[in-house]
Amino acid sequence: MKKMNEAEERGIVIVGGGICGLATALALHRKGIRSLVLERSECLRATGAAMTIRANGWRALDHLGLGSLLRKDSVHIDGFGTMKLDQGTKLAKSPLSKGEARCIRRSDLVEALAKDLPHGTIRFRCHVISVKLDPVTSYAVLELNNGIVIKAKVLIGCDGVNSIVLRYLRMNPTKFSATCAIRGLASYPEGHGFDNLFTIAIKEQVAVGRVPVNDTLVYWFITRLWIPTDSEMSRNQEMIKMSSIKAIKDFPEEMKQTIQNSDQSSLSCLRFRYRAPWDLILGSFRKGTVTVAGDALHAMSPFIGQGGSASLEDAIVIARCLAQKISESNGNMVFEKCTVDKCEEALDQYAKERRMRLIKLSMQSYLLNKMFETSSLVVKLFCILFMAVFFRDSAGHSQFDCGHL
Ligand SMILES: Cc1cc2nc3c(=O)[nH]c(=O)nc-3n(C[C@H](O)[C@H](O)[C@H](O)COP(=O)(O)OP(=O)(O)OC[C@H]3O[C@@H](n4cnc5c(N)ncnc54)[C@H](O)[C@@H]3O)c2cc1C
Repeated sequence: MKKMNEAEERGIVIVGGGICGLATALALHRKGIRSLVLERSECLRATGAAMTIRANGWRALDHLGLGSLLRKDSVHIDGFGTMKLDQGTKLAKSPLSKGEARCIRRSDLVEALAKDLPHGTIRFRCHVISVKLDPVTSYAVLELNNGIVIKAKVLIGCDGVNSIVLRYLRMNPTKFSATCAIRGLASYPEGHGFDNLFTIAIKEQVAVGRVPVNDTLVYWFITRLWIPTDSEMSRNQEMIKMSSIKAIKDFPEEMKQTIQNSDQSSLSCLRFRYRAPWDLILGSFRKGTVTVAGDALHAMSPFIGQGGSASLEDAIVIARCLAQKISESNGNMVFEKCTVDKCEEALDQYAKERRMRLIKLSMQSYLLNKMFETSSLVVKLFCILFMAVFFRDSAGHSQFDCGHL
């Protein structure tokens, strides 16, 4: 094991090479700032098959210079189709009220984010196992599973729901929801023929969603209550497929067919995790020159489909704040000349810009998740009232503009 004085010294280190970590590294790169991404996996991960990106996410992707590329292989979603099976099989259609929505393959997104990074920015098989403070330099000291020690002047934790960096900030851990989702991609080589709608069918506490990615590929998900046997089932993709078909036995045949058409390797089952909105109100987003972003900071249930887009926004804001302070401190983009104080100011600015936005997103997704998982009419009513008062425009979250890089 290396001692602290043998440690490799780095400017900006990002823990986690998921959507948020890669987007943050790319945003910094676009501003001419180098960073190092430490990822514990052996290669880029794209668990979850696909995701919808609303107007705010596309704005962030445009700022990263990836919007046009990613739009090429994804169709525009024109509206929603809702089927309440307790009331029949009629599909109630409504147009997309505001802005742009598209569904993209996660692999397309992470590959696009990684492709433009300078060689050597991402280091795979680097599992960070502890984060400490160097009292002399005020740098964060990271210990990796392979014995390597890295000292980071600025540390950004983009390490997801079990974030080790978040523990260093002493924020409360994320909580488990009573709900889970099974997700997959279905392939129709001859064309699927579905309208470009985000279609959702609901029966009691089971919801099945379907969104076209392009003319031959469809993303689907099943949201239902989590049961203890799901832990084992989620490790076996054949069992996930069988369980999915069983869960929707009373749903329209074409939905079952979509699951039958799925590529087994695209299937995953995940219990939702979330950060309670009050933790975002009270928690400190920064300690010294260490902060967190993405799911590490604001994991939320996917009922408003904003976790990934909010992570892209984090990336833009964090890079912009750091770039501003670096240029204030030395006129050029020379990060090495930026003082620790200036780095702290940049992270405070990031926290200030993001806090209210994230509180609103996490509150809205928290209420929707509660409404879905509860069987109590009183709780449901409370959630509906709260939503009516604070989230009258239920799609308002997609209008947010995180600003330019
Ligand atoms: C069912 C479901 C559906 C969703 N649908 C949507 C949607 O439609 N639209 C949308 O915008 N969002 C959606 N989301 C949310 C979105 O998937 C997440 O918000 C987003 O993936 C978060 O990215 P991240 O990079 O912060 O975290 P992650 O993707 O979890 O990445 C964290 C990375 O850190 C690595 N890591 C973790 N710990 C360490 C460590 N100690 N050392 C080194 N590396 C480490 C991991 O290997 C991983 O690669 C959905 C989420 C779920 C669960």
